[in-house]
Amino acid sequence: MSNLYLIGNWKQHGSHAAIQAFAGEWSFDPHAQLRIAVAPPFPYLQALAAALPDCQLAAQDCSVHLQGAYTGEVSANMLADFGCEFVLVGHSERRQYHDETDALIAEKLAAAQSAGVTPILCVGEQQAAREAGKQDEVVRAQLRSALATAQPNLLIAYEPVWAIGTGLTATPDQANEMHEMIRQEVSSLFGASHATPILYGGSVNAENADALFACPHVDGALVGGASLQAASFMAIAQSASNNLSH
Ligand code: PEP
Repeated sequence: MSNLYLIGNWKQHGSHAAIQAFAGEWSFDPHAQLRIAVAPPFPYLQALAAALPDCQLAAQDCSVHLQGAYTGEVSANMLADFGCEFVLVGHSERRQYHDETDALIAEKLAAAQSAGVTPILCVGEQQAAREAGKQDEVVRAQLRSALATAQPNLLIAYEPVWAIGTGLTATPDQANEMHEMIRQEVSSLFGASHATPILYGGSVNAENADALFACPHVDGALVGGASLQAASFMAIAQSASNNLSH
């Protein structure tokens, strides 16, 4: 079996005290094929790296620019300089609250790749598209536009928007079907020899993780709410690890 990935997205949550509490509880035997990373808000990257040396670092966003007069922006080069392994690109909350377009997302993806930071491209349909049976069409369009000029070194997170932070999770069958479709689409863009990891995101928790990791096309999880507490994040990591050992 290939690697599994577990990425925690802390969104706009965290504090030094929360990081110390998390690190104090964190005790997880690393599995050679399980890569765990946490994406805190930018100001906490350094504290997290010091407190959780077993986990890799991820950022939640990056600028399309390498440097310059762009107040408030953080470049992918700065993330690389800092030792960030991954960066989320095109999270639905950035698409929704910051009007990120597919074109901008493609530029961010290219900036991350050129800096040597692995982008995690987030795609997923809204509830209305799912109800209309248009989830394949929507996700395919997001992939085609983000990946038109991209290199193959990336991860993809399928995150149905209706499942993010709602407590609703895609069923394992729904997730697996979408991941299979995404895999075919990515193979047609990059060639079948590139095994792009495809993570599921959307209310993953300690209770549903086993069933999701057991899906043949699910290569890991992007976890929001349940990554904020060490106990629930460790339980999800344990599910991933058990799945790798089967
Ligand atoms: C996310 O932040 O990408 C996410 C999937 O959040 P949650 O797990 O809380 O649904």
